[in-house]
Amino acid sequence: MEQISQNEIPNIVVKDVNVIYNEGKSNEMRSLEEINLEIFPQEYVIIFGPSGCGKSTLLYSISGLQKPTSGAVMIDGEDISTYKKKKMAWFHRRKMGMVFQAFYLIGSLSILDNVCLPKTFDGVKISERKAKALELLERFNISNQSNKFPSELSGGQKQRVSIARALVNDPEIILADEPVGNLDSKSSHIVMSILKDLNEIDKKTIILVTHDPSHLEFGDKIVHMRDGRITKVEIVKKKKTSAESYIFKDGKVREDLVKEEYIPLDLRHLMRSFRGLTANQISNLLVPFKAQQIFSHLFFSMTNDQIERAIKKVEDFLYLKNEFEYFSKELDLSLEKGGAGWDKRTAERFALEVKQLTDQAKKISFTEKSKSAQELADYINAKLKLNLDEVKKNLLAGAIIDRLENRIGKDEFEKLMDISEKQHGLAFDRRMATKIAKELELLLLLRYSG
Ligand code: ADP
Ligand code: MG
Repeated sequence: MEQISQNEIPNIVVKDVNVIYNEGKSNEMRSLEEINLEIFPQEYVIIFGPSGCGKSTLLYSISGLQKPTSGAVMIDGEDISTYKKKKMAWFHRRKMGMVFQAFYLIGSLSILDNVCLPKTFDGVKISERKAKALELLERFNISNQSNKFPSELSGGQKQRVSIARALVNDPEIILADEPVGNLDSKSSHIVMSILKDLNEIDKKTIILVTHDPSHLEFGDKIVHMRDGRITKVEIVKKKKTSAESYIFKDGKVREDLVKEEYIPLDLRHLMRSFRGLTANQISNLLVPFKAQQIFSHLFFSMTNDQIERAIKKVEDFLYLKNEFEYFSKELDLSLEKGGAGWDKRTAERFALEVKQLTDQAKKISFTEKSKSAQELADYINAKLKLNLDEVKKNLLAGAIIDRLENRIGKDEFEKLMDISEKQHGLAFDRRMATKIAKELELLLLLRYSG
């Protein structure tokens, strides 16, 4: 058996579940096919895969919000599809807490009332409800926001409120659907750390849906999905758990941990071994990391084999400085013949994109920063189809100079991107701001060489 904890009996069993939309019609969509999965008490399970592969559908099936076309979800031995309305409502209030990317807080209620909401229907006295809610807000270091309204809070604070709401009835199981999908890196770190605490200190079962590979380190069990199916279930050896909060100490966020997290974990490990090496050696050490970053940046809709093999090909391209044509052919070649098994057009388009990225990165000069910044602004403008006029392009170049000179970090750069036009900013929406910042960071990483 594959269980990893001392708990021998799974609390959640997904058995032969299929979810088919528009069955029999031309637009039939098989969102889930033959899903079988066991989840054990206190496990931290991560459902991982590219967008559209069926992660949310699986999570909602487990929660009872989505009824399977066939198959069953058993929780503590009971088939939840047999639950009547009243039992289902109880189930959602007491057994499972849910956290979503979009928070779903109620705008006309105060933060405190939002957290109390699931208790309102349980006949608990108002004072008791409030005390419990406040305790949670305190734990997550946002009790000073309790009389405000959701619109007054940052995304990261809102997600902490929505976690408090999910916890107010002390459910055994927490389901989270891309809970940090909309958050900046610091807020993401705090929310991921809270989930880790809930698993390790509070002994909750956590089921997290994500497409972000950097979250995998938190899981005991990684469920890889693709095209509506589970392709692999990875069991991670039980992580060392600490009885101490990972992120909060004496009611404060442990800033030391948060700051460190700005640097990706892999890079941090590399950095540690840098002492005494030449720049050229460091640059070579960074190649696998660069290859991986190119990947998560550009592409995420293939089988693991295709991705793993292609990462190797990108590494070769970066290490050996292979010809572009050779690189493209290797991606196209079948897996059996040692290639990455992509189709030809994808291979060509991808190889071209990597080449453009590496060429552009090579041009970055730290001695001629303003020229480099102009070129980067042009490149980003064209690549992301921003259609900037000269004034705005200069603004973008100005922000890039600040980043090249390291006066600001990635997050500050991103913030600069969404300052309003009134304040003479670029006024990109949040999504685009993130995209631009990521593009620039990737170029800077690729530029890093001796
Ligand atoms: P993920 O969360 O991994 O991005 P989803 O579970 O949301 O994926 O969706 C899986 C697939 O099912 C997608 O192709 C999506 O378009 C499709 N799908 C989801 N909901 C519906 C629906 N109500 N009707 C038709 N297709 C749907
Ligand atoms: Mg989803």
